[in-house]
Amino acid sequence: MKKEFTCIVCPMSCHLTVYKDGNDIIVEGNSCKRGKIFGENEFINPKRMLTTTVKITGSHLARLPVISNDEIPKNKIFECVNELYKITVEAPIKRGDIIMKDICGTGIDIVASRSIKKEGI
Ligand code: SF4
Repeated sequence: MKKEFTCIVCPMSCHLTVYKDGNDIIVEGNSCKRGKIFGENEFINPKRMLTTTVKITGSHLARLPVISNDEIPKNKIFECVNELYKITVEAPIKRGDIIMKDICGTGIDIVASRSIKKEGI
């Protein structure tokens, strides 16, 4: 079965057609090698960085921006976001602090993408 993707590796946004031919994965429409790798990964196991926010207390801000420290399988993103909606962290938080380890068994950690001081300090 052929699948169509838009390559998001660079702003050229090449239109890719990807399909299997025996044991080979064929990528067409890519203008460079990076697009071939992107097309193969999208076809086999698409992944994305996860960026969202979690609740924080003890700060003048209501939410802390967080990011995954690696790409997460696309079919796990919704489950991971749901887990992050359930938690509340407490200020102070330093950029890079681990907010959730091995989220949903992916082996990927969620880390703070900014520092937030404790209110009044
Ligand atoms: S295939 Fe290459 S040139 Fe085209 S969007 Fe992807 S990275 Fe950019």
